[in-house]
Amino acid sequence: MSIDYAAFRRELEEFARKSCPPEIRAVVAAGQKVTKREYQAWQKILNARGWGAPGWPREAGGTGWDIKQRLVFEEVMAQNDCPPLYHHGLGHIGPVIIRFGTPEQKARFLPRILDGSDWYCQGYSEPGSGSDLASLQTSARRDGDEYVINGQKIWTSHAHEANMIYMLVRTSKEAKKQDGISLLLVPMDARGVTVRPIRSIDGWHHLNEVFFDEVRVRADNLLGEEGKGWTCAKYLLERERLPPANVARLELLRRQVTRVVDDAAQAAAGRRDFSTLRHKLLQCEADVKGARVLMAHATDDLIQQRPLGVQPSVIKMICGECAQRLTTIALDAVGPQAAHRFLADAGEDVPSATWIQNYMFTRSRTIAGGTAEVQRNVIANELLGAA
Ligand SMILES: Cc1cc2nc3c(=O)[nH]c(=O)nc-3n(C[C@H](O)[C@H](O)[C@H](O)COP(=O)(O)OP(=O)(O)OC[C@H]3O[C@@H](n4cnc5c(N)ncnc54)[C@H](O)[C@@H]3O)c2cc1C
Repeated sequence: MSIDYAAFRRELEEFARKSCPPEIRAVVAAGQKVTKREYQAWQKILNARGWGAPGWPREAGGTGWDIKQRLVFEEVMAQNDCPPLYHHGLGHIGPVIIRFGTPEQKARFLPRILDGSDWYCQGYSEPGSGSDLASLQTSARRDGDEYVINGQKIWTSHAHEANMIYMLVRTSKEAKKQDGISLLLVPMDARGVTVRPIRSIDGWHHLNEVFFDEVRVRADNLLGEEGKGWTCAKYLLERERLPPANVARLELLRRQVTRVVDDAAQAAAGRRDFSTLRHKLLQCEADVKGARVLMAHATDDLIQQRPLGVQPSVIKMICGECAQRLTTIALDAVGPQAAHRFLADAGEDVPSATWIQNYMFTRSRTIAGGTAEVQRNVIANELLGAA
């Protein structure tokens, strides 16, 4: 059956306008942080419409949409200031459960991601194990029907809000470092889990340290085979660097920054020249369009189960660097007032302070999920061959 994409687009536009609460759209339009409550509310609305997981196959509760439908969905949602999909459940661990989970695990975990009941965070990095992730030390020993976890994770985004963590643990020390790793799903309210906040330069609280002290978890919360978690971790990392939402978020950011520049130009009433900023904005617009084309190719490869090669690294780098350039433009448009208000009103809801926060937050876009240097290594090794 052929798909009428124009009718599909109209259906999405009407849905976005009517169903996404105006107060949530206002937060997105202003470039402010979307809260867990807002993400969850939007996820419930999407799920009730059957669109909770645009990227999942139909048999797992997804839409089963083709690539073009998914791209149209992301485009329309961004154009209407709807929040991007919350990535940890839908984009990261969900696809891993679909690929490596048992039928029982799929039935237990997937519906709760779809309706927003389970809110995951990612426990990969440890002090001393970031780029060299396979050196991680947090341990899990088997004890009857349970694993017992000890160790520490760091830089765990949203751990203070999550009720579940997917985490890499070492279940064996004898093997080569990649071989003794396993992937566990752990409830954050398990006895022995402690979360400690890390305040970041942007003034928001999203980062944490998470400590595990004799934490017991059901053995059937192990995804894939014991000791083979590195395969799951790589599968997840490839998708983490390639979430469809990455490009959608970038498009959203471009629209927000365009609005900031327009507003600043209007307020300046001809007293400042905005032509250089507008030129930089156009260059970003071209990059966003390029990223969208690359993303379409990569998504096609994902669906056809072809190797992704360097695509995740290239797209991650383009999105991260372009996001940094966009927030720099926003800051240039707002001017020194942003810094003044940020310092004076830290924590308060001041629109121009939002842009200094966004500027600072996007500095982390070339670190989180694998640093830009490491991505360049991946690209160089793949294209030029390992040294
Ligand atoms: C905002 C933010 C959110 C994050 N969220 C999470 C999360 O939710 N869960 C999670 O598990 N982790 C998270 N992280 C951690 C992130 O994945 C790590 O910071 C990242 O992988 C880098 O590791 P590291 O900080 O230990 O730095 P290191 O690996 O110590 O690197 C330090 C410096 O050395 C460079 N370097 C390292 N190795 C090489 C190499 N081989 N060649 C060239 N240069 C190299 C790096 O590029 C970097 O500049 C987050 C980080 C940030 C900033």
